[in-house]
Amino acid sequence: MTDIATRADHLEKLLGDPWDPANPAGFAAAVAADEREETAPAAEAALDEFGLHAEFVPRALGGRLERLDDMIELMRSVYRRDAALGLARAGQLLASVNVWTAGRPEQRWAAAELLTDNRRMACAFHELAHGNDIAGNEFAAQRAGSRLTLHGRKESIANLDRADALVLLARTDPADGPRAHSQLFLGADLLDPDRVRRLARFRSVGLRGVHLGGMRVSGLPVPEEVVLGAPGTGVETASRAFQVTRMALPAMSTALLDTALRVTLHHTRRRRLYGRPAAELPMVRTTLAEAFADLLLCEALSRTAARALQLCPESGSVHAPAVKYLVAGVLTDAVQRLSTVMGAEFYRRDGRHAVFQKIARDIRPVGFGHIARAACLSALLPQLPGLLGRARRAPAPAPEALFTAVAELPELDLPGLRLVAGGRDVLAASLGTALDEDLPRSVRPLVEERVRDFVRLCEVGAALRPRELSIAAEVPVRELAARYTVSLAAAACLGVRRAAAAQDFLARPQWLTAVLSRLEGPAGGPSRDLPREVEDALIEELTDRDDRGLSFGLVGRPYA
Ligand SMILES: Cc1cc2nc3c(=O)[nH]c(=O)nc-3n(C[C@H](O)[C@H](O)[C@H](O)COP(=O)(O)OP(=O)(O)OC[C@H]3O[C@@H](n4cnc5c(N)ncnc54)[C@H](O)[C@@H]3O)c2cc1C
Repeated sequence: MTDIATRADHLEKLLGDPWDPANPAGFAAAVAADEREETAPAAEAALDEFGLHAEFVPRALGGRLERLDDMIELMRSVYRRDAALGLARAGQLLASVNVWTAGRPEQRWAAAELLTDNRRMACAFHELAHGNDIAGNEFAAQRAGSRLTLHGRKESIANLDRADALVLLARTDPADGPRAHSQLFLGADLLDPDRVRRLARFRSVGLRGVHLGGMRVSGLPVPEEVVLGAPGTGVETASRAFQVTRMALPAMSTALLDTALRVTLHHTRRRRLYGRPAAELPMVRTTLAEAFADLLLCEALSRTAARALQLCPESGSVHAPAVKYLVAGVLTDAVQRLSTVMGAEFYRRDGRHAVFQKIARDIRPVGFGHIARAACLSALLPQLPGLLGRARRAPAPAPEALFTAVAELPELDLPGLRLVAGGRDVLAASLGTALDEDLPRSVRPLVEERVRDFVRLCEVGAALRPRELSIAAEVPVRELAARYTVSLAAAACLGVRRAAAAQDFLARPQWLTAVLSRLEGPAGGPSRDLPREVEDALIEELTDRDDRGLSFGLVGRPYA
């Protein structure tokens, strides 16, 4: 099991045909397990047989993680069957990336050994009282001689009941400030039941199979060696590690739209209305074509951002919130629109298409879990004047390796991730050179519009004052950050089309016309109607991939 295509094929085979009602790891089993607020045991067993957690462990530590874009694509095989199964497994990343980022060698090896052995880790950062404001967290680790004593509550933590180790954010300085917290990495065997009361499982509307746990800790002593990284750097480490997870988790979630689209296509191609398949009704065709374009758009931005994290990691603090904000919004909106086409069939908890209602619930946390979309705009705002000023002063084409799958990528340098980009974002800077490219005639007016919008954004952005960019920023100012994410998506799609092999669907102008038209919407204002010939090309490609059992995303790879 070496290259990613072989690994992905192997995983697809282990998990089997999701449409087969007798497959214990298929859609029917996932829906039945969801009703029990669990994941399908056969699917869990298949992932263990595959040794999935090794995909999250860097190769230097004995795992299989070399490229984030590959790891994300592989995880889409899991998410497309069951998002709860996906998150319960990808949740290992939430914890382990912090260990790779800040851990001592023995801590890294301990985490790597645990994961390659199929065991689990939990990331206990969240406290219900503080939500997205993790700098306000109260869970305390007080120094007592050569030990730390832990007090406080952690809630809504995935896998807490099944974890063999935890990464935990704890206040080590009662005074507020950027250095008030530290991260701890400790074995679950240290959670002495006399000092740790497990809270009842938290129940949720979607992702019901994810075990959300909590604990109340009262005076638990732990050795000082559990501290991860330098004391006081807990929030800083999290901010760097989040650049991987806040980008990777929404990127994996594009597989939910793949399945929602596949189910909708399946239903509307077979359902006859007014003497023809429902899929041929103009409204239905348009919704299907738009959802396909939205999927390609989300994957183009997230794939580019994933590669950028290895090629030019300095911009991770910009790309991660941009992906989370834009991709989460587009995905949830697209699934909602598909549900209108599914009609009553969407509402059913039984039957062949019951997985749709599960997806419609499971996709919602992409918008608020781990960080709220609105908080992503808050994170981007203070960087905006620097980013826009530099993009205006120094437009330059982006490196080709951002867009081509065959390009070698440098090793993922997690300790090298920066807290701020210092105005450097090669993707944004490339938009200023987009009109120099040899663009298809049909696409050029749309690109001109995007470039004009970016120029206007640069002018407004340069005039912003720091006091306008705080957490209390007014809505119109926050919209500027949203428009920046749209500019990044446009630049990513342009790059993906330019780099595509000549015979590939992605080299054709129609999908680019479609995504640029769709991008009118996310920053405000309605998206543009797709020209008839564009819609035809998208529907033809979509139907062909459906018939051939290929994924609907950028890769178009074989699905079981
Ligand atoms: C399925 C699932 C699994 C989870 N797993 C884990 C886990 O393993 N470990 C863990 O630690 N946590 C986990 N969580 C918790 C998750 O991280 C929290 O949902 C998250 O911290 C957000 O908190 P909140 O929704 O309470 O939002 P709040 O912080 O209460 O925010 C409410 C709203 O206020 C606004 N807002 C908040 N902050 C800002 C801002 N900075 N700028 C502008 N507007 C803002 C937004 O509109 C936001 O939606 C999980 C949650 C779910 C649903």
